[in-house]
Formats: sequence, C-alpha cells, structure tokens
Amino acid sequence: MKKPLQARIASFSAAKEARQKGIYPYFRPIESAQDTEVIINGKKVLMFGSNSYLGLTNHPYIKESAQKALKKYGSGCAGSRFLNGTLDLHLELENKIAVFTGKEAALIFSTGFQVNLGVMSSLTSRNDYLILDEYDHASIYDGTRLSFSRIIKYAHNDMADLQRRLNSLPEESVKIIAVDGIFSMEGDIAKLPEIVTIAEKFGATIMVDDAHSLGVIGTMGAGTASHFNLVNQVDIITGTFSKSLASLGGFVASDSETIDYLKHHARSLIFSASMTPASTASALAALEIMETEPEHMQQLWSNTRYAMHLLKEEGFDTGHTESPIIPIYVRDNEKTFIITSLLQQEGVFVNPVVSPAVPSDSSLLRFSLMATHTFSQIEEAVTKLSKVFKQVGIVEAKEPIK
Ligand code: PMP
Repeated sequence: MKKPLQARIASFSAAKEARQKGIYPYFRPIESAQDTEVIINGKKVLMFGSNSYLGLTNHPYIKESAQKALKKYGSGCAGSRFLNGTLDLHLELENKIAVFTGKEAALIFSTGFQVNLGVMSSLTSRNDYLILDEYDHASIYDGTRLSFSRIIKYAHNDMADLQRRLNSLPEESVKIIAVDGIFSMEGDIAKLPEIVTIAEKFGATIMVDDAHSLGVIGTMGAGTASHFNLVNQVDIITGTFSKSLASLGGFVASDSETIDYLKHHARSLIFSASMTPASTASALAALEIMETEPEHMQQLWSNTRYAMHLLKEEGFDTGHTESPIIPIYVRDNEKTFIITSLLQQEGVFVNPVVSPAVPSDSSLLRFSLMATHTFSQIEEAVTKLSKVFKQVGIVEAKEPIK
C-alpha cells in the first residue's frame, strides 16, 4: 500500500504519458556550451530556445574574467551576503548595476528568482496590495504569496483593467504595481508610460522585472525604463544575470533607502549563500562588454527583424511580440510537444510552452534569437519549422494558423 503522498505522486501522469509517446520535451541534456549550435545525443542542433540574447556565454573576455575570479577567490563564498559571504567583487557589481540602471543603489542575489521572492515578500504586508499583470513571471507571483498582502491580477497589458482595479482600492493603502518589462513567453513590452500615469494618480509604487529586457532594449541595453525614458518614474527595477549577462544571479536597483531596507528584510538574500566569485566576475565582464561593444545588441535586433520577416512570410501566428522572444502559436498542447520533438529530429531546438504556463488554447513554441545567430541559421530554422508545421497539419502552405 502506498502512503497517501506517494499515491498522489504516482498519479501524476502527464510526464509519463509524454515519455511513452516519445514526445517528452524537458530536461534535454546538452553536451556542449550554450551557443547557436549545441550538441544533443551527439548530434548538432541549432539553438533557438536560449535566453542568452547577446550570445555572450562564450565571450573570451567573460570566460577569462570568471577564471581570474575563481583563481583569486576560490569556488564559493560559503555563506550569505549578510554574514561571511560578501566580497569586494559583489560590491563592485552592485555599484556597476546602480550606474547602469540609473538608480542610486543595487543589491545582488544568487538568482533572479530569489530577487523577486525577496522583493515582493518583504516590502508589503497584510492590508497592502500587490497588483500584477496576469502574465507576470512565476517568481513575482510566488513572492506575493509569501507577503501576506492582497493580490490583484489585471488582464495582460490591459490598462483600462488596471485602472478599474486600482479605483476600487483604499486611497491611502500601500500598493505596488509589478510587471515584466518584456514578457517572457509573449515577447511584448509592458505599457510603461500608461502604467506610470496610472500609478501616479493612485500613489502606487512601480516595480519592473527586466529579466528579458537587459541587453535587449534601452540605452546600451539598460532595460525597459531606459527604453521609455522613465528611469526616474520607475521605483524598483529587478533583473537577472542569467540571460543577456551570460552568468547566474540577479539584482534589485532602487533608491538607497529601499535597498538598505531590502538588505535587512529580504529573506531569500539573508538566508541564502551569495553569488559565486566566477558568476559575479562574469556578470561584471558582461556589463563591460555591453557598454563597449554595442554591436551585439544591434545584431540581435537585425536577427530579430529578419526572423520575423521570414516567419510572417510563411504565415506563422506570432502574436504581439516586440522583441527577440517570438511566440509561434500552436494552440494545442500535444501538437506543441509533437512539433518540438520533430523539430529536434530536424536539428532545431525550440521551447514548448503549454498549460498551465499559458492557457491550453494559447500553447506555443517559444522561438528566441541570439546576436550570434547567422542569417543562414535563421533561414534553416524557419524552413524546418514550416516543414514540420505542414507535417503536423497545422499550417497549409502560406496560410496563417487559425
Ligand atoms: N523574471 C523573469 C521574467 C524570468 O523570466 C526569470 C527566469 N526565467 C526570472 C525572473 C528568474 O531569473 P533566474 O533565472 O535568474 O532565477
């Protein structure tokens, strides 16, 4: 007899069923560096599922900086920032991030997920309000759950809905509107100018998660607030080093008082070990590259425009993307898995996004560009996408997907 918990776990069948059908798409082991071409099962596969938008994970200067830090500081910090785990290198990265984002101060955490957990959970408490876009990242949602505050969700990028919901809240209450700068699956940009106007009217604080915007939009890739020229109007910026910045870790940037408050209240910072020396040095080096080599961001956009042109020409439904994250809608969970698996056999890696991450009628392939892709790699990927979509009977030649 299984114990109740083990019985419940055994009844989880989605992954087993997908494995039996040979279409299980997760935890695919990559046998090489994260680049535009990776090795899976000994075979070359074009990578169109990476978050390394600037393609910097193999940049010689970044690798060399990581090696130097490893040599000087060792492999780990053996403690939290709060106690024995703060290095001078951490402070250097915080200062650099503050300048880069245009904020007074910054605080770095070991992952971007932990940043949102720490920030969302520690700034508000009972009787306060956290107002979230329905498509905000899971880490923002999980942080709000730890806060004991009231959570208000508004329809994705729907400013009338945001305004309506704020209208019904007590005037003097503490409110934070938290949004992804670039939405991680849909690729569209938060309507920050409208959010700023609404937030000012209702006295709400604004937090923007720039995980996918850094290195992608704004001056030198400084993110969404910079993109809209609203750095002073956005109160809190969070971000990660795990995407464009070719490392691991994350940050929050804000005014000095908020950062000092977070240093003493964010439990995911205080009770967790600090970023490794190598990760810290990599993030620092990546920031330097972003400032001195703007060609990476230019190339990323040139690749994005080219891919969008080809995908539109082939009739794919790409939603409302405005960034290198291109959703290709399939609108059927199983077909999304089948296409992902057929594409890998064809030598193209994309990420399947199915319910509950998105509603099942919005399941999609998340196709993302890197600065280091060549036009011929993009052409090959789109040709193979067309072939597989036709094979699965989703798209007729030159017809948009319904
Ligand atoms: N915010 C957003 C919008 C993200 O997409 C992610 C990662 N997918 C995170 C935060 C968490 O970042 P990290 O990978 O550094 O934990």
